Amino acid sequence: MSDTAQAKAAWLRNTLGIETEADGPPPPGAVLPKNPIRAIIDGVEAIFSRRKKKKTSPTPTPPPTPPPTPPSQSSPTVVKDEAFEEKLRTLKEEIGKVKALGCGTAQMEADADDLAAHAETASKEQNKDKRDKAYTALRKRADEMIQHVRALRKSIKDVMGEAEGPPSAQQKNDAYKKALEDFYGLTITVPDGMTNTHFDQMFDMFGTVPQGHVKQNKLKSLKYNTADIGGVYYGTPCEIEMGNFGDGTRMETDPSSRYMLDGKVVPANSFNVTALHEIGHALDADKDIMGKNKKKDGAGGWTDWMRTDAVVPIYAKALKQEASPSDKVTEDAMLELVRTAIVSGTVTQPTGMDNEDWQKINTFLVTKCLPMRDAQQPYFKNNPAAIGDMVYTEGSPGWWCGYKYAARASTYVNNYQWRSPPEWFAEVYAITWLSKKKPPSGVAAEIAEYCWKE
Ligand SMILES: [Zn+2]
Repeated sequence: MSDTAQAKAAWLRNTLGIETEADGPPPPGAVLPKNPIRAIIDGVEAIFSRRKKKKTSPTPTPPPTPPPTPPSQSSPTVVKDEAFEEKLRTLKEEIGKVKALGCGTAQMEADADDLAAHAETASKEQNKDKRDKAYTALRKRADEMIQHVRALRKSIKDVMGEAEGPPSAQQKNDAYKKALEDFYGLTITVPDGMTNTHFDQMFDMFGTVPQGHVKQNKLKSLKYNTADIGGVYYGTPCEIEMGNFGDGTRMETDPSSRYMLDGKVVPANSFNVTALHEIGHALDADKDIMGKNKKKDGAGGWTDWMRTDAVVPIYAKALKQEASPSDKVTEDAMLELVRTAIVSGTVTQPTGMDNEDWQKINTFLVTKCLPMRDAQQPYFKNNPAAIGDMVYTEGSPGWWCGYKYAARASTYVNNYQWRSPPEWFAEVYAITWLSKKKPPSGVAAEIAEYCWKE
């Protein structure tokens, strides 16, 4: 408890004989007034005023002595952490220094504001242990952010050498690249002639997530590929590959790829959200997050990967139940029709099959099997074909995964999330950090642990 809180509690105890919640947490279910101290004073004043009204004696009496003013009327008790405040000041000074050198600091400033907002919340935490724990984490995060900004300033100095004046655009580009190499330990490869690497945006994204997510053994290199327009993470050699993102300002606005949180579209810069998505893959590779959690409903309710041989009988069984062809259609025939549909994408009426049976089977194959083939990119569409309470998707040729259809509603952030368990995590991860919003409420705590938190 702070000195102020102790003094306040002592005053209330000694003057009014009232124990306050400053002596400990309120009992579960207790309804506290918005301002307990003010309420107590109001209560005391009400007693005095009632007594006044009850007085019948004509003898004038002196007015009651008002209760002394308590040391503070603020509530709940706000406890700042001076060591944290000092770090926040340092962080803001450091950001100011790189801003003065002509670097874009909007992301760093937004991150510092987010940190300050978390500290504001921590300062109002009435449970000392919880508050101390929150401040310990915030001081650590402040240190990381200071290191991040200082790494850039050091790289600018290294790149500039003896040169005077502010860094040129090329020198800034070189400095961001050097900071990614020196501070985040990346080996960077850029194809000849490629200039739109957006090292500044990549550096910003590395700094917006906890340092442990990016300074880790599964994230060793950054490579660019002008032939691609997206990003990829390769578990071997622990590498993020970024394609050609034009001038880096494109937003994910297309309904097929946009992000949603709390039922609203969340603006997402394509380069930034892709960088975070690939960082998410690297983190998942490091911590085996989906390996441990993918089967939980709050992580998509995924099956293990299945080869075509494993998914064919699932569809064939559903075909029998949903299409209900006549007994003339054998189970082997159904298996073969499903196999042909999902392997080659073709549906052909077998010789000798009744038209009536074929119409039913054809409808099933066309509406349930063909759309979920990788060739149809079902992970860019929002109309998955369910089999019972599951959806099966060919995430890459010959490899299928199933997920719970209900989990799609409760944990949805975008369509691409539903390509496979790693994509599910990478998309949830990316959009929470980019937007500084919590993941959907259906997301499991074991996953939310790695996402942005309130
Ligand atoms: Zn991915």
